[in-house]
Amino acid sequence: MRLFAAVLPPAEVVDELGVRVDRLPPGEGLRWTGRPGWHLTLAFYGDVPEETVPELRERLARAAARTEAFELALRGSGQFGGRALWAGVHGRTAELKLLADRAEAAGRKCGLPGEHRRYRPHLTLARARTATDLTPYVTALDTFAGSPWTVTELALVRSNLPVSGVPGERPRYEKADAWALGGAR
Ligand code: ATP
Ligand code: MG
Repeated sequence: MRLFAAVLPPAEVVDELGVRVDRLPPGEGLRWTGRPGWHLTLAFYGDVPEETVPELRERLARAAARTEAFELALRGSGQFGGRALWAGVHGRTAELKLLADRAEAAGRKCGLPGEHRRYRPHLTLARARTATDLTPYVTALDTFAGSPWTVTELALVRSNLPVSGVPGERPRYEKADAWALGGAR
């Protein structure tokens, strides 16, 4: 199954950002990500063989236990090469990176392919099919500063590729499991 590790912002934080995103023009050729699925990816595992999932879970549980809870906030916006529009992350991003490194290492130790790109914390809001000028969106979201929250868990998320095209048939992302961070009570 297709899996990734993520931090899931709480509903209030998603709602705050949602209010701002609602005010943006829809834009041609942009695919907006589903609000219930908004997440900060820590590590992407791709297709994980069924027999590897238990070991991955164990390693993620340990990674979470070793990491203290920390505070984050969503703030501002940016883009990846005119192809992805995202909301930025503010606060204890060094701790977020540490958690991402640990989540990535958990996958690597299970024999899953690692990520070579530098970790750039972001929450993807929209993707463009072809390179698009996203600066108006980035500018519009520049002043966005969400409420801080404490990250208390590491989530393992299942990514369901759209199959039938029947809307609402299956959630795009499903939280498969979650582990409390070591400092979380
Ligand atoms: P779609 O692929 O249909 O555009 P998606 O990218 O949101 O949707 P997935 O491809 O399953 O769905 O990815 C799940 C999450 O992992 C997303 O946040 C995605 O940006 C991230 N991701 C996907 N591939 C990688 C990768 N190779 N490296 C890092 N993160 C990735
Ligand atoms: Mg993808």
